[in-house]
Amino acid sequence: MPSFLDDLSAAFDATTVLTGAGIEPRYHTDMAGVPVAPPLAVVRPRATEDVSKLLKLCHAARVPVTTQGGMTGLVRATLPQAGEIVLSTERMNAIEEVDTGGGVVIAQTGVPLQRLQERVGQDGFMFPLDLGARGSCTIGGNISTNAGGNRVIRYGMTRDLVLGLEAVLADGTVLRGVRKYIKNNTGIDLKQLFVGTEGTLGVITRAALRIFPAPAEQQVALCALASFDEVRALLDLARTRLGGDLTAFEVMWNEYYRLTTELVKGVAAPLPANHPFYVLIESSGSDAGRIRDDMEKMLAGALEDGIILDATIASSGAAAAAIWKIRDSSVELGRALGPAGVGFDVSLAIDRMEAFAKAVNDGLKKLDKDAYAIVFGHAGDGNLHVNAKYPPTVDRTEEVSKLVYGITGDFSGSISAEHGIGLLKRPYLELSRTAEEIETMRTLKRALDPHGILNPGRIFTV
Ligand code: ZN
Repeated sequence: MPSFLDDLSAAFDATTVLTGAGIEPRYHTDMAGVPVAPPLAVVRPRATEDVSKLLKLCHAARVPVTTQGGMTGLVRATLPQAGEIVLSTERMNAIEEVDTGGGVVIAQTGVPLQRLQERVGQDGFMFPLDLGARGSCTIGGNISTNAGGNRVIRYGMTRDLVLGLEAVLADGTVLRGVRKYIKNNTGIDLKQLFVGTEGTLGVITRAALRIFPAPAEQQVALCALASFDEVRALLDLARTRLGGDLTAFEVMWNEYYRLTTELVKGVAAPLPANHPFYVLIESSGSDAGRIRDDMEKMLAGALEDGIILDATIASSGAAAAAIWKIRDSSVELGRALGPAGVGFDVSLAIDRMEAFAKAVNDGLKKLDKDAYAIVFGHAGDGNLHVNAKYPPTVDRTEEVSKLVYGITGDFSGSISAEHGIGLLKRPYLELSRTAEEIETMRTLKRALDPHGILNPGRIFTV
């Protein structure tokens, strides 16, 4: 397509458009680590106007575009397909305004999550979204995947943190919706079109996001439990006793805790690894004395009532980080265990979780006696991550996917809690959404992107 590449080169300076040998492998490699064929070109806009100019050209020439942030997605939504242009947001990375009085930060789409967290931290504030990929994932990626992560139990998903968005439509039209207030009942809330839709309806360029005063105190505890009934009892107790101070409640089945503390470098085991379940509890708030007291009293009560077998409260920031590191090392654990496995991110009611995990394990054993599931996740949000592992002699990706998604359907769960659909889960979308819902998604896609140039084929086909 030489004439289109000529048009691109004429429209932008040489640092903005990369082609041929100028395209580094990171633009066509994702978390799976296996590069695909390079894209037609990589375009790295500096501003919203560049994004608009690029999409106008692509719209006219019917050239498909995939938008990339930190490339930490897990569903193959941003790996370029044949003939696609990569729109990299890496140079749109300014934090434009921190408004502590209004509790708002305005950031460009390519700002890495951790940099935003640190910047608002300098002013005594926190941006509550947090996940293992914080160092590389970007604000635009977080919004377009409606990222969840570790503090959803208290602050909600990314959707709940977005006040306003600026986005560019497929034909280059710019929707300027960066507004700094929560209340705004003036018709269709257009920003929601771009939250969680994986770049299929528009390209996010800037966002106004909610920030909160940083808590003066944070307590992190790790508990060992004998059964999943006790996990549920502990969640009830934590909700009752810690109330709005409860900021995370993460569960790990034995295999996850044992293997992570054994195999992942730099991860220690603060409690012995022979207990059936582990729970990480975090509480935070402004009254340091009360936060510490409440956590200690709650755990002492839980120990007395036999809900927990053992517990340790982090005595320093470093100790808290070490406990979080266990829970945050799922990707590293996957790598340490080798390639033969399939990852799942499902949601289901908490009272079905134990039976679900057992059904998955039993089903895997029927496929291969050496197969097993590593289960962990955000119990308080009804979200479990499952890594199904099996001997590498046969590729079982498809049968394992069918098995786990089938069981998820049997338990009335959702096939994607927080990772999205991308290309990877597209064949299974209909297990979680009705035919009418998917057709309505197609109607929106046709209206906003008539030539189908934005991330085509991700989530569903038109
Ligand atoms: Zn997660």
